[in-house]
Amino acid sequence: MSTYGIDLGTTYSCIARLDSNGNPEVIRNNEDDSNMVASVVFFENENNVVVGQAAKENIETDGDRVVQFVKREIGKRDMRTYEFDGKTYTPVEISALILTRLKNLVESQGNNIEDVVITVPAYFGLEERSATKQAGELAGLHVLSLINEPTAAALSYCARQFQEDRTILVYDLGGGTFDVTVVKMSMTRNEQGKDVQKINVLATGGDDRLGGKDWDDKLFEHILNACCEENGLTPQEIEAETRQDIRSKVEEAKRKLSKKQSAKVRIDVNGSRTEITVTRTDFENMTADKVAQTMNFVDSTLQKVPGVEIDTVLLVGGSTYMPMIQNAVEAKFPGKVQQHDPDQAVAKGAAIYASMLVVEEGTVTDGETSTDTNSTDSTVQHAEQLAAKFTVEDQTPRSFGPGVMDTKGSKHKYVLENFIKIGEKMPAVFSKTYYPLEDNQERVRLRAFENMSTEDTLIPCVDEDGNPQATDPANNVKLLGELVVNLPPETARNTPIKVTFKVDASGVHVEAVNTKTNEVFETFLRTESDVDVDNSAVHQLRISAD
Ligand code: ADP
Ligand code: MG
Repeated sequence: MSTYGIDLGTTYSCIARLDSNGNPEVIRNNEDDSNMVASVVFFENENNVVVGQAAKENIETDGDRVVQFVKREIGKRDMRTYEFDGKTYTPVEISALILTRLKNLVESQGNNIEDVVITVPAYFGLEERSATKQAGELAGLHVLSLINEPTAAALSYCARQFQEDRTILVYDLGGGTFDVTVVKMSMTRNEQGKDVQKINVLATGGDDRLGGKDWDDKLFEHILNACCEENGLTPQEIEAETRQDIRSKVEEAKRKLSKKQSAKVRIDVNGSRTEITVTRTDFENMTADKVAQTMNFVDSTLQKVPGVEIDTVLLVGGSTYMPMIQNAVEAKFPGKVQQHDPDQAVAKGAAIYASMLVVEEGTVTDGETSTDTNSTDSTVQHAEQLAAKFTVEDQTPRSFGPGVMDTKGSKHKYVLENFIKIGEKMPAVFSKTYYPLEDNQERVRLRAFENMSTEDTLIPCVDEDGNPQATDPANNVKLLGELVVNLPPETARNTPIKVTFKVDASGVHVEAVNTKTNEVFETFLRTESDVDVDNSAVHQLRISAD
């Protein structure tokens, strides 16, 4: 089977598949002697682009040719771009370079890679999700689906030790982000009447700007100051090479402090060798506020599910190797904490999910479809068993709905009707019938929005042209795009148009059906350049019939 799961991380990425025993395994990155690939890209010159550990070594000295933390930019409005040697790169293209490196890893070991599942943070909105998918496609991968990172971690845990009616809190502290997720394991009956193990997400929380990088930065400052003190220099007098030297040693020192009580760091300070010793206690003191910050997010996430008792806390993400994290979580949940494959659980869960999907889609039959060296009958059988065993129910990351005309009052109002609300079970589907605004209307332009509100209707989050209003930043209303529904001549204003929104981890599908002709419209225009400039309100749909 040439099916893989990819954890496209902010600082490190990882790729996994099922081995011939049906167990997830990570593909080793022999070049960097690691299970991970650093999500760092160095544009050395126009002919050479380096991805991984080697790219990381150039951060301080050649910082303007290095791109890191690109995941924080992907799918953002006004996405920043990067320019090297006369070429412009978008965050999607940079992410595609990282994905290509992972793909090459598999291929260099003589294996085929086709279908993949890529993981995304639970809080990613639609645009971040479609940008991630696009990056996969740009790297020549067929993206079966996306899955939320904590859900993937929980899936990998449950595949190993499923226990009915247990609630798990996933504490995922990575390099750049912190995610808290409450997940419940239970048994349920599927459509075929078979008992299956269900994983459902009850609540999510966290911070997309809190992670191992913050611990690195504190340690960097500490070592820089210590170097200054030892040599009687000010931070401004420290050369770029020295900064790079410190930067490249900080992470290693941090990792050492996870195992030992102190770490020695040797730095060339403007040409002379300086040795700095950092103790674990020093390190813990300088980062205590960061640990406290993560615990506040744990509390606020638990507040979303009052009365829910946590049975197990799973520590995932590379930063949970730090004893200070293990101790803080243990103090809060005594006897309940387990560290589960901190840096691989997400990729492994994605590999399990990918195998389940391939079986569900029926693209694999008895291992005949691929010439891959890993493609054995048993792998396929294991995938089939997994697909029959599990079902995953996630939560919607945002609220979604169309902009429509409310014609009830004396004045027409353009409103956003939230079909699917943030935190609802996912996959989610909702339909509602609307009507053209006028008789003989030639077409309808149905705009779809994403937002953070839990209200049924948002007024006036969008103006009459369908543009999100800056007056409502709290709800973070975003225009996702629009669907054009052409109506045949002489369509009456009471013709029902059924609008459906479907949301899953991979994105939103919008569909409209003219119930008189049964014509289906589903071509969704996403980019602003695709969307018609003619904003006249006559093209809208109306909430109620006459
Ligand atoms: P992401 O998914 O955000 O890229 P990961 O879950 O891969 O992050 O974790 C990467 C982070 O974990 C980095 O900040 C790295 O320095 C940190 N990390 C990895 N191993 C250790 C360790 N042994 N001790 C402390 N931090 C570690
Ligand atoms: Mg991660």
